[in-house]
Amino acid sequence: MHMTAAEQILTGKKTGSKKPKQVTTVAVAHGDGIGPEIMEATLQIIKAAGANVEFESILVGESQYLAGETSGIDKHAWETISKHRILLKGPITTPQGKGYKSLNVTMRKTLGLFANVRPVQALHPYVETHFPNMDVVIIRENEEDLYAGIEHQQTADVVQCLKLITRPGCEKIVRYAFEYGKAYGRKKVTCMVKDNIMKLTDGLFHRVFEEIGAEYPDIIQDSQIIDIGSARLATRPNDYDVIVTSNLYGDIISDIAAELAGSVGMAGSANIGSNVAMFEAIHGSAPDISGKNMANPSGLINAAVMMLVHIGESDAADNIKNAWLRTIEDGIHTSDIYSAQHSKIKSGTKEFAAAMIERLGKRPLSIPSSTLSEGTGVIKIPTFKRKNVEKTLLGTDIFIDWPHSDAQKLGEALDKLPKPELKLKMITNRGVKVYPEGHKETFCTDHWRCRFVGKNSKVENNEPVYQTVSMKNILELLNIMTDAGFDIIKTENLYAFDGVRGFSLGQGE
Ligand code: NAD
Repeated sequence: MHMTAAEQILTGKKTGSKKPKQVTTVAVAHGDGIGPEIMEATLQIIKAAGANVEFESILVGESQYLAGETSGIDKHAWETISKHRILLKGPITTPQGKGYKSLNVTMRKTLGLFANVRPVQALHPYVETHFPNMDVVIIRENEEDLYAGIEHQQTADVVQCLKLITRPGCEKIVRYAFEYGKAYGRKKVTCMVKDNIMKLTDGLFHRVFEEIGAEYPDIIQDSQIIDIGSARLATRPNDYDVIVTSNLYGDIISDIAAELAGSVGMAGSANIGSNVAMFEAIHGSAPDISGKNMANPSGLINAAVMMLVHIGESDAADNIKNAWLRTIEDGIHTSDIYSAQHSKIKSGTKEFAAAMIERLGKRPLSIPSSTLSEGTGVIKIPTFKRKNVEKTLLGTDIFIDWPHSDAQKLGEALDKLPKPELKLKMITNRGVKVYPEGHKETFCTDHWRCRFVGKNSKVENNEPVYQTVSMKNILELLNIMTDAGFDIIKTENLYAFDGVRGFSLGQGE
């Protein structure tokens, strides 16, 4: 049975069908630097393994940047990717200089590639590592967080970057992590965020992890704050199985994990979306060794293995993975992993590919064989359904540019303004309350947040109880403040959703 796009997100399942399989067509970007060398090696191996795949090349990267495409990709390449829905991509060189946008970030967001999946496995004793049993899969959210790229300079002193975390984004990535764990027989999923500080954004990620985790009682679940989590990953990677995390933390810990296992040249990654998936090595275009037949093609080969599983060619994936493991076991190593102690032959890129092709059909002798074709299921991510919530306006934070340092003076000036329905609750500077009752030691920039709430709001049992306000009240206040000469740089309204406060309190509020 041919799966629909939504169901085909990733499968570890053997099809078992005796009918001739449909050929899958794949767009191929050969990439820059060492890209063409490792791609040629990888395509030769895929063909020799008998995978039912055909390729169509596209041009992206340096040549396109230099031809004037600031994103490194043109309309024709986008059309080819949309047609095939699968992309095998070599590394790209982003030219130095302003105005060039990262092709990877553009592709992830344009194609909705929400999950970045990076398995990292030690190959002890064949590849040197301090952690012989390391076998971790990092599943990183790929589209949102600080990578939304929404940045503004607001005053002479202050720039900001918006961190956007969404419920649909969290649900997709967390569900993907648990489904991945189930399909690949993984035992544990660890969530890493920093919700002790970012209670709303990272708090949502953590909450969704617990909500969705409840549907997977057979998988052990754990949550760690990202700082101690990364430290433990670097010192005790054997404690981890699958890690799910948001975009920036995932970017950092996936590089740490790859380095721990041996070489940056070894790991592949999958970028999974509902309609399109892109597979690539984790490393860059390595201009220092480009054109020298020195590059390790393993990262791209491992990415190709993930691609073959994704399109239902799990037998070919196992065949290639086993030949790769056997080649590494036989001590045929490219120079990045070569060591007199562990290696037998220092191999070039082409020779490594030839050695792998000779070993197709063989299995590793001591490393456990690849059993991707024995996976247990298809990963399905349900379409997001937004719940109806009741949203109530409780006040507003008005940010002003005020290049002075006396918070008391600012507070008194704002208190004196005629404000028919609202009152000033507090002023913060860089998030810390400075009025009323600030501390003279607090350093203040020219960026002030003035929180206004309904005039009858009060505190009961140490908890603020807010009165509902209207947008007209806020607009009226904005006019009054502007007329009084205050330089308003932005407003953030304060809402409750189904009665739950949807904004953080000021530090010291
Ligand atoms: P890099 O990953 O290209 O190289 C870092 C080091 O690792 C170099 O010493 C390199 O020789 C070595 N190395 C990398 N891959 C190897 C392999 N397969 N075999 C053996 N050695 C390998 O990182 P960089 O030097 O920071 O970046 C070079 C270029 O690549 C930049 O233009 C950067 O923007 C780009 N880049 C692209 C991607 C991508 O397309 N996915 C990712 C990272 C960097």
